[in-house]
Amino acid sequence: MLLDKLNNKKSYLCSLMEKRVRVRFAPSPTGGLHMGGVRTALFNYLFAKKHGGDFILRIEDTDQTRFVKGAEEYIIEALKWCGIEPNEGVGFGDGPHKPYRQSERKELGIYKKYADKLIASGHAYYAFDTEEELNDMRKRLEAAKVVAPQYNAVTRQNMRNSTTLGEDEVKKLLADGTKYVVRLKVPRNEEIRFNDIIRGWVTVNSAQVDDKVLLKSDGMPTYHLAHIVDDIEMEISHAVRGEEWLPSAPAHILIYRYLGLEEQMPKLAHLPLILNPDGNGKISKREARFPVFPLSWQDPRETAPYIGYKESGYYPEAFVNILALLGWNPGNNEEIFSVAELAELFSFERVHKSGAKFDPEKAKWFNQQYLRKQSDADLAKAFKPLLKEKGYEKDEAFMIDFCKLVKEKVQFVHEFWDHGKYIFEAPTSYDEKVITKKWNAQSKEVFTKVLETFKSVSDWKMQPIHDAFEALVKETGKIDMQLLRVLITGVAGGPQLFDMIALIEKEEVLKRLEAALSKL
Ligand code: GLU
Repeated sequence: MLLDKLNNKKSYLCSLMEKRVRVRFAPSPTGGLHMGGVRTALFNYLFAKKHGGDFILRIEDTDQTRFVKGAEEYIIEALKWCGIEPNEGVGFGDGPHKPYRQSERKELGIYKKYADKLIASGHAYYAFDTEEELNDMRKRLEAAKVVAPQYNAVTRQNMRNSTTLGEDEVKKLLADGTKYVVRLKVPRNEEIRFNDIIRGWVTVNSAQVDDKVLLKSDGMPTYHLAHIVDDIEMEISHAVRGEEWLPSAPAHILIYRYLGLEEQMPKLAHLPLILNPDGNGKISKREARFPVFPLSWQDPRETAPYIGYKESGYYPEAFVNILALLGWNPGNNEEIFSVAELAELFSFERVHKSGAKFDPEKAKWFNQQYLRKQSDADLAKAFKPLLKEKGYEKDEAFMIDFCKLVKEKVQFVHEFWDHGKYIFEAPTSYDEKVITKKWNAQSKEVFTKVLETFKSVSDWKMQPIHDAFEALVKETGKIDMQLLRVLITGVAGGPQLFDMIALIEKEEVLKRLEAALSKL
């Protein structure tokens, strides 16, 4: 009883002491941000929102050889378009932890201190091996049939580093300015255990972990050291990142441990991959069946741009909704969620361990749902410039009626043209299948009567046109509506026939019918 009370009190106190939620999206500016990266940003954002925490954008640009011009600006623009804006970080405002670009942080000497600490405590060491020596080691190990050759507790013994060289020699090499890297000294055979919020407990033997490079001689840290230092200094509570980082996590645990920072270590969450529609492998930017980037991306090293979701006609809200359901589920069958709703519902407990297959058709369906939520006036406004490009301009009332009529058929605004162009353009040919099957000896006479009937309609609106037509049908017997449609538009399918006829001006309908009657 007393123990229970004490325990309750303890968990209450612990919850009070829980760290403020601070998460970060930490891309490297090595190219355009693809949808997998945006999904990582989104899950971070949702988690921060849910807990009233902070969402930070940190640019991890320590690997200058992979730096791509324009990538950072692209990342910022993409997050803005998606409406998942960080409240702190590069492009989004400084906080107490500035700067947020690692290359700038390096200039302040932030990382070296930590590397020095690891060296001083014997958990990291200098390695002077040249590229050639490293290659020789790899070849030697391959010849000895070692499956995954790596620099580790065994192989380091035959290499040129501060664990094998004498102290004086190391000092001399350093004083001479010899190129070096600082490596993590991973123990030979030790269980490393850590808890991942999504995957649960993970146990790895240190024999599988290599002596990761932490710092290069120019003082530039690698990702492994830099992100740990920054996560600590920026008081990050949860490190949420892609599954590809899971294999490095054991090394990261060791670094936290050796720095005496295990207590402050953020909780880890490794998100599942987004797989291509066949489920074999992760989606790649070379994918031709659907966009992979949020905004069009021109890689300066390539000639053709990659077309983005935005430019393909997706609403940002639809794109975000699609991403949210790739690897997470709300616990029911609902599928349409606003960002605010997602933020309320989101939890890592509902993030899946296995990869999420991307379904491009379903993605289009999502866009359609968002399109249907738009008012006809908004759709009209959005379609107007596209129609102008095709050479047509109509007043607002017409545009609204047009959108109302065609809306059910389209998944994207630009499809209003594909599904409604015959409202603006007279046909130049007539659906052959329909004509062959339905145009017969009586057709000319019947449709001449239709033409006459239409001529007599003075109030050119759907109902009067329809009524006049029905009166004619009563007189002549059944008239093939599909044939009527083909004579006016050239195609066999489309929106509501009489609504459409009403929308096309009277003179134009008469002209089209006359033209068809003279051609057929
Ligand atoms: N810079 C890493 C990347 O580009 C970030 C990984 C992390 O979030 O820790 O994926």
